[in-house]
Amino acid sequence: MPAPGHNVVDTERRMPGFEIFTFLFDNCYQPVVIQVPLCHINKITIMDTSANAIFPKGASAPADYFTGTAWVNTLVPNDAILHSVIANVIFEPGARNNWHTHPGGQLLIVTDGTGYYQEKGKPAQLIKKGDLISILPDVVHWHGASHDSELTHIAINPNTKNGASVWLDRVTNEEYNSARKG
Ligand code: MN
Repeated sequence: MPAPGHNVVDTERRMPGFEIFTFLFDNCYQPVVIQVPLCHINKITIMDTSANAIFPKGASAPADYFTGTAWVNTLVPNDAILHSVIANVIFEPGARNNWHTHPGGQLLIVTDGTGYYQEKGKPAQLIKKGDLISILPDVVHWHGASHDSELTHIAINPNTKNGASVWLDRVTNEEYNSARKG
């Protein structure tokens, strides 16, 4: 199995094989060609995805507000003119943040991997590299990696004068696992 933080990026499959079997038909042995599946993977290349990361991992995400392993790199700190925070967040497979709100709203730009985004009372959405998520102020939601892939997103928190994040309950395993079904 690939180690956490690594993706299988290349597999090479052998073509299905053909073998000759001899069968008894009408008192006469006859050769019959039968296709035999031989599709086992014979080469797996492991690549460290951090080598391709746009931004370094940063600091461990606060355990009080995250379940599993995640990393937060604050790219743009808050200031008194723009009132915005931009952070790069990396979630290892299975990791997610708590239910929370942003009084000033939030924009997520997914730059790598796949994950989930869920608003309270709605089904979870599968999100992937290239997706943009616009979160209105005070909407209760969570985001995180999918079960078997990392997720990297840039989080933009505008209007920080209203407050950045209000952290609520953890996303339980039951809630997280139901996200797989959508
Ligand atoms: Mn959020």
